[in-house]
Amino acid sequence: MISRRQSIAVKIGPVTVGGAAPIVVQSMTNTDTADIDATVAQVASLARAGSELVRITVNDEGAAAAVPHIRERLDRQSIFVPLIGDFHFNGHRLLQAHPDCAAALSKLRINPGNVGRGSKRDPQFAQMIETACRYHKPVRIGVNWGSLDQDLLTRMMDENSREASPKPAIEVMREAIVVSALDSARRAEELGLGPDMIVISAKVSGVQDLIAVYRRLAARCSYPLHLGLTEAGMGSKGIVASTAGIGVLLQEGIGDTIRVSLTPEPGGDRTQEVIVAQEILQTMGLRSFTPMVIACPGCGRTTSTYFQELAQKIQGHIRHRMPEWRKQRSGVETMTVAVMGCVVNGPGESKHANVGISLPGTGEVPVAPVYEDGKKTVTLKGDRIAEEFQELVERYVERSYRPHPEKAV
Ligand code: SF4
Repeated sequence: MISRRQSIAVKIGPVTVGGAAPIVVQSMTNTDTADIDATVAQVASLARAGSELVRITVNDEGAAAAVPHIRERLDRQSIFVPLIGDFHFNGHRLLQAHPDCAAALSKLRINPGNVGRGSKRDPQFAQMIETACRYHKPVRIGVNWGSLDQDLLTRMMDENSREASPKPAIEVMREAIVVSALDSARRAEELGLGPDMIVISAKVSGVQDLIAVYRRLAARCSYPLHLGLTEAGMGSKGIVASTAGIGVLLQEGIGDTIRVSLTPEPGGDRTQEVIVAQEILQTMGLRSFTPMVIACPGCGRTTSTYFQELAQKIQGHIRHRMPEWRKQRSGVETMTVAVMGCVVNGPGESKHANVGISLPGTGEVPVAPVYEDGKKTVTLKGDRIAEEFQELVERYVERSYRPHPEKAV
């Protein structure tokens, strides 16, 4: 059992981040926010995939003007996922010129390294915090080491160089990220924003830096923490780096909301980052989103592709059925389904799952015993093993998970 760090609960629309709330999955669009159709479609698809908060960039007049329309269109589709506005450089001006934009958003993300340079920084930061206070919007103070406050970093590097035993530059950099986040949060509180309206993030692109920075933040404040690597990368590299960094911190009880920042393949599906975030939380036993398919990796005992095809088919079937099951069947997200390639580990693993099938390996009798709640219930054979197993899973769900109380018909 992981013991979570105590943090303050922050309400973001209907979603709570921090306190005793479950760890929240969030994502970000990559459409031009001014393109209302494209942004509504992507927010809707991220929300349907399970994103509980969605961030959109608000980078210019067109984007700021589009935000209320995006909110309205989503509401009309009954998609009430809170929208977070991502602001940099000109955020103070956009929020002032577009009050409807501020009203339509559920949270503002402010990067203290990008609110303005030199003497403009403090008044522009103050202007954004005042807007947040006026509209009762929580704020994420989102530091990013790619845009770290250079004045602060230079000052801390200079101070360090004057020390008798200066620390390595990377240590000063990590500390500067933490100081930037905490000083900005303190400044926001001085300007009138309540501590229950502040979330902190400090994104870096290296796993060890992420862990070091968040451990310090966790020890020095009780604001909820948003975890994630920035520029995690593409494909397996991005997934592995994010999982390694986020996983270590979650195991230490650190983190109240996560985002997996994957670079999609050209034309790739943006919802992948939501699925990966859910899978991190589910495989660590922190939340359940969808039934888990446990499949063995296959080996020389499974020379045909039949077993991989069945595992893929079942996984696809479950994802396809889940939106309906979620509405109708209480607890179905905790179900496990095992698809195993031969008798070596097949029956044992199948017995541990809610429903499991052990397919015949090369040279084995061509039959597939099925186990339900640890007991062998039937043996499938012939050409329709996949279809029949799918039907058994359907019947198991119907039998084992009660109709959802408030949605029962
Ligand atoms: S269960 Fe059988 S097929 Fe799967 S990895 Fe183990 S030995 Fe290989």
